[in-house]
Amino acid sequence: MTTIAANLQAVRERVAHAAIAAGRRPDEVLLLAVSKTWPAYCVAAAADAGQRLFGENYVQEGVAKIAELKARELEWHFIGPLQSNKTRPVAAHFDWVHSVDRAKLAERLSEQRDAGLAPLNLCIQVNVSGEASKSGVAPDEVRALAECIAALPRLRLRGLMAIPEPDGDEALLRSRFAVLRRLRDELNADGFALDTLSMGMSHDLELAIAEGATMVRVGAAIFGTRSVRAEGQT
Ligand SMILES: *Cc1c(COP(=O)(O)O)cnc(C)c1O
Repeated sequence: MTTIAANLQAVRERVAHAAIAAGRRPDEVLLLAVSKTWPAYCVAAAADAGQRLFGENYVQEGVAKIAELKARELEWHFIGPLQSNKTRPVAAHFDWVHSVDRAKLAERLSEQRDAGLAPLNLCIQVNVSGEASKSGVAPDEVRALAECIAALPRLRLRGLMAIPEPDGDEALLRSRFAVLRRLRDELNADGFALDTLSMGMSHDLELAIAEGATMVRVGAAIFGTRSVRAEGQT
């Protein structure tokens, strides 16, 4: 077994244990393998081990990998910060975007999504950490953005995504994840049909699953630790 295959197996077991501990079924939690900074052959190794969902943070890097791995029919999720002038390749090549935090991005993605493709699946990124974070829409602005997205033709609003402060302790992280879950529940009570809570990473996926995550985004625990230099690219 390759290291990536063994790591994947271990992460799947963590996900399953966390789900069962929370009284949930393991298959209620999808695993998104975050392959940013890792070359296509690492993605291929994960795909050989049965992984189908991959997350990328950088537009150019992601699009190149998608092209290289076209024949494998993987599902690609854009999860990084997105500039308005870089939406076109994302709309053309990705299946999901998790990081939508303003109407302008959603409008451009809808305009640019080819009618021949399935609608682009979106999550709204929510800032659940207040002052401690700059990305994501404030919780009290989520509804307006959700209504805007729901009215756009080439998009399908699937849920909410959050990245809590990385240095939070367990109680704080759980409370952040709980905020996202409550927001999702409130929207669904008002007629939305959101099936996705994208939350939890290598270090906190158990806490996120305990609070209702339906998709965990895991990089380092599958592919290894990224170098600082590679983190700095765009
Ligand atoms: C890098 C990244 C992840 C994965 O983080 P790990 O700590 O490597 O598991 C998840 N979500 C987002 C938005 C990321 O940028």
